[in-house]
Amino acid sequence: MTFSVHGLAVSRGIAIGRAVLVASSRVDVVHYFIDASKVLQEITRVRVSRNAVMEEITRLQHDLPKDAPHEIAALLDVHLMLLQDEQLISGVKHWIAERHYNAEWALTTQYDTIARQFDEMEDEYLRERKADLEQVVERILRHMKGVASPVQAAVRAGSSRNQSQDLLLDDTMDVPLVLVAHDISPADMLQFKQSLFAGFATDVGGKTSHTAIVARSMDIPAVVGARSASQLIKQDDWVIIDGDAGVLIVDPSPIILAEYGFKQRQGELERERLNRLKHTPALTIDGQRIELLANIEMPDDTLGAVKVGAVGVGLFRSEFLFMGRSGKLPDENEQYLAYRKAVEGMEGLPVTIRTVDIGSDKPLDKLPGKAQDRHLNPALGLRAIRWSLADPPMFLTQLRAILRAAAHGHVNLLVPMLAHGSEIRQTLALIDQARAQLDHKGLSYGPVRLGAMIEIPAAALSVKLFLKYFDFLSIGTNDLIQYTLAIDRADELVAHLYDPCHPAVLRLIADTIAECQRQGKAVSVCGEMAGDVSMTRLLLGLGLRSFSMHPSQILAVKQQVLRADAAKLALWAQQVLESEDPGAML
Ligand code: PEP
Ligand code: MG
Repeated sequence: MTFSVHGLAVSRGIAIGRAVLVASSRVDVVHYFIDASKVLQEITRVRVSRNAVMEEITRLQHDLPKDAPHEIAALLDVHLMLLQDEQLISGVKHWIAERHYNAEWALTTQYDTIARQFDEMEDEYLRERKADLEQVVERILRHMKGVASPVQAAVRAGSSRNQSQDLLLDDTMDVPLVLVAHDISPADMLQFKQSLFAGFATDVGGKTSHTAIVARSMDIPAVVGARSASQLIKQDDWVIIDGDAGVLIVDPSPIILAEYGFKQRQGELERERLNRLKHTPALTIDGQRIELLANIEMPDDTLGAVKVGAVGVGLFRSEFLFMGRSGKLPDENEQYLAYRKAVEGMEGLPVTIRTVDIGSDKPLDKLPGKAQDRHLNPALGLRAIRWSLADPPMFLTQLRAILRAAAHGHVNLLVPMLAHGSEIRQTLALIDQARAQLDHKGLSYGPVRLGAMIEIPAAALSVKLFLKYFDFLSIGTNDLIQYTLAIDRADELVAHLYDPCHPAVLRLIADTIAECQRQGKAVSVCGEMAGDVSMTRLLLGLGLRSFSMHPSQILAVKQQVLRADAAKLALWAQQVLESEDPGAML
């Protein structure tokens, strides 16, 4: 039966495909697609861990004291039985062999499938076995985390190769797939960036949560904040993701499918039309040249930036190099190579590398007990430059890597989340120190322009101070809105109050741009507002001449620029600023 689930529209377009559910687990689970050649290896990893857990439980049974309550022995029996359950084993093999899920993902997916069946059981005793199943699955997952390496595991279990190869069934990977999850960490999103999902939906998240931002950078339809989508949608259900309206349609009827198929084709035609603007210079009707830059997360994203005619990278979110690595940070050389790759990828165009913005909704890892989880309000805590200044050796490593990459092209160094004069001075002192260290080691480095992000109201109100120290400013509207309005950008429950057009937000943006203009300093906007076509005219009217956004938005924003008369918009923008309800005037 067809039904719909409503959420927030975060990435435009229509996707139609079968649901892939990313299962929730208390153990941190990574999700990625494996190469077809790794199927056997992944199946083996699960088998090796399952056998080890069975041995563990058998040993426990054997060592039970004579006077142990008989319920314990019975429970261990149940766990052993569940570990040998045919549905669990064959299901896991199915997800690995047919869908190419990695072992942990396959295991949690099959757990979710069986758990749903337990939930529907009449018999209370059987219903309660779900908790036992969860425990054994988590035991296997824990064991898998501790297994030295998948390769070694495969070698140890090599004898069962033929049996596993039989599982390589027909390839079903050509059916479009849409990802449905309670939440996806930004690090997991990066993994999925390499895969072929046609769309995404999550239960939680706001429009400018980092998960939504990565989804948008992949330029595929996405809906976040869809509350219970991952409960209501089952593995393999047909789902339409309407990224324009923020709606999911589950199990659509043929009429609905036809209607959305039509919309999908219209969207594709519109994109083809926009593609023709790639080589058109971004000039307003009255001849103002507008700089359209790209936001990237990884060095390879420069390919997409160049493809749409970006004139540089306005924001390289370097923290994505640091995430999902179990706390092992990239060393100086690894970072240097990554930044250099981005610089070379832009073929002589400028690249603005932001120092790490770890913390808040971009934790290094999802491991429970990590510092960021223990704090009640991570968005106000040790995040971005605060995190860097709290760990000078880590920060110096990054600074040296950026300075070295600057020897290969035009690099700007951007610092996030500054608020205090003392932070500015400490940061600049560390940049000098990094240069001195490179001199000392005899390593070559290049000149960089220094920039600060304006994303805290205190910073927006201290622009003159910032301009004393920096060559350029970049307004991070995502955080500026969050901190001005006290709205957690990742919380779907308050998403309706997250208002880019609030008069206070617009005032801070307008004054920052105006002060930079007065002093002849460069200023850009690199938050999501820069790529929102409904805001282009207003930002032009406020005097903005540099916009940085996901490559996928550049051509649509260029279309707005080409239709705009900046001089006329300046007058109108002043009226919008004075209005009680600026949003209504756009
Ligand atoms: C912003 O806050 O607008 C910004 C660009 O930084 P991030 O989204 O990475 O916090
Ligand atoms: Mg920010």
